[in-house]
Amino acid sequence: MKKQNWYKLIYQFAIIGILTFMGFRLLFDKAYAPDFEAYCPFGGIQALGSYLTMDSLSCSMTSTQIMMGVALFIGIVLFSRLFCGYICPLGTISEWIGKLGDRLKVRFTPAGWIDYALRFFKYALLFLTFYYTLKSSELFCKKFDPYYAVASGFDSDVALLWALLAIVALVLGSFFMRLFWCRYLCPLGALSAIFKFSYWFLGVMALYVILLLVGLDIPYLYPLIVITAGGYILEITRMKKVRPDPVHITRNTDSCIDCGLCSVKCPQGIDVANMVKVTHTDCTLCGDCLYACPEKNTLQINRKNMKWLPGLVLGLLIILGITAGTLFELPTIAQKWGTPEQIASAGVFEMSGLKNIKCFGSSTAFANQMRKVTGVYGVSTYVASHSVHILYDTTLYDDEKLQKLLFVPERRIIKSVAKDVDSVTYYSLTVDKFFDPLDATYLQHLLDQKTEACGYQSEFACPVIIRIYFPAGSEPDKETLVKAIESKNLSFTSNGNDFSVKLPYKVITFEEPAVRISKREYAEQMFTPTTSHFNGFSKYSPDVIMQYVLRMGANASLKARYSYLISHLSNDKGVVGFETSLDSVGAEVGSVLFIDSLTTADRIFTTVNADTLLFHYSDGRTGKLANPFSFPEQGTVKPTTDNR
Ligand code: SF4
Ligand code: SF4
Repeated sequence: MKKQNWYKLIYQFAIIGILTFMGFRLLFDKAYAPDFEAYCPFGGIQALGSYLTMDSLSCSMTSTQIMMGVALFIGIVLFSRLFCGYICPLGTISEWIGKLGDRLKVRFTPAGWIDYALRFFKYALLFLTFYYTLKSSELFCKKFDPYYAVASGFDSDVALLWALLAIVALVLGSFFMRLFWCRYLCPLGALSAIFKFSYWFLGVMALYVILLLVGLDIPYLYPLIVITAGGYILEITRMKKVRPDPVHITRNTDSCIDCGLCSVKCPQGIDVANMVKVTHTDCTLCGDCLYACPEKNTLQINRKNMKWLPGLVLGLLIILGITAGTLFELPTIAQKWGTPEQIASAGVFEMSGLKNIKCFGSSTAFANQMRKVTGVYGVSTYVASHSVHILYDTTLYDDEKLQKLLFVPERRIIKSVAKDVDSVTYYSLTVDKFFDPLDATYLQHLLDQKTEACGYQSEFACPVIIRIYFPAGSEPDKETLVKAIESKNLSFTSNGNDFSVKLPYKVITFEEPAVRISKREYAEQMFTPTTSHFNGFSKYSPDVIMQYVLRMGANASLKARYSYLISHLSNDKGVVGFETSLDSVGAEVGSVLFIDSLTTADRIFTTVNADTLLFHYSDGRTGKLANPFSFPEQGTVKPTTDNR
């Protein structure tokens, strides 16, 4: 009976099975939010690189991925490319597609100079991946990684054309050429080969560190070029002679009958039957050749029958990586801008549970916000625990003042008050564990789903004060409202995506009875004016600027997205601003400021009702969003001088 390499197959089926399960669950359970990169060693190595060069971890990488990367390195240096052979989903798919190609007799193994030339591309991709990741602290490989593209559903980090090309290369390439992706395109394949030539990698890194220590300011670009270029040269010149290679396949030439089955079965196409020691750069220690050999004690690992060794070592490395990753947490960013004296005398304020601290981007935004605050000298963020450390001047702040500094008061309109309702009532309460802007969003959805609330606002205190408004007569009793706020779970849809979150809120105080105010007072209490000028607004005199006044109606509840609408409006060079105000009855109106010689009211009406909003990021990139705004009624045009 044909002997199966179950050690390898169990790993491969387990990984593909887990990913398939996650994918199917995602299809049917839209609230499910899996992290497909949670244990990615390649992401971890890139994150470690950006941490060492920029003091920041890439994207949402944490110490877990970094320790998985360290485990990968140890595994390759001491054993082999176990990750490639056993658990890489792209390697498994390439191998399985290749077997189909073999059955149809269409697959071939490039050799000689064609093979050598093609191997260059994975080193070029490795260079680009590290160069751009270390420069931006964003994982560059996400742009073209077929695994990430499919797992993330082609999210905004994916460059669609590159990813589609990579998927075609993976599927078609593997069908016609032996492990096309792994051998010629995979940057992790290139990095793994470099790690196999460990004396080279460690030697260059050691030299670089020494040069830095003696005071030479050498950019990381140079060691990156040396390591990748040297790795390629070593791969093509010393492909069969990796040194050191402490654990490898050995062939007993005395008992070998030269049947050649081991060479046929090797997924990497290594000519095992003509080697005494397999110290080939492509060998993953997968063990397939061991199972193919019909002669006892002929093919072994280090001349011993240890078929179980690679599978066991891989399992231990995975456990080691995950365990080590939980023992410490590296900051996603750690920035200090105070003088050495200020930092030496600074206090450290720690706060966790900030749900908004979830990746490199949000951490950077937080640091930029803190840089503007007098007496704050530095911040560190930790995305795994959603926490921050702030270095501050102890003569200016205490814990409560710093909490107030971090707090963003919110005013959220949940739904508009019906025309025939002339007054509004509100309850004031304090809520523990409510702090972050995301909490404000969660509370908005809770109140929308479970009550008739028309809006709420939050104010800093310990705990935070919340004032919740209801159209008069629709306010719930205390017990119902407290139960709604203290809900343990929340599911909601935003931008077409479903979310499911666990909530920790606890109502501490509750003022009764409800206070009644007029609709106009409610409108004034909830209103935050928006003013945005662009497209050369200041160069026009007020008498040539017209305003196209739109009733905001239900759109007023979308205040958090006004910036998208404004950015979208700015695509029309005749539009020079957007402002909001309250009309005589307290209803919010939006005024689109425009130059009537450059655009028209009809064009603006079409723009604000477009199916898609085309907006601009601050770095110049553009994005698209399904338009959440709807203006059923045409606006009115009047000169801006009417209200100035
Ligand atoms: S030589 Fe053996 S262990 Fe190495 S990749 Fe080929 S089949 Fe796997
Ligand atoms: S499969 Fe075994 S017997 Fe056949 S060539 Fe390879 S080592 Fe020799």
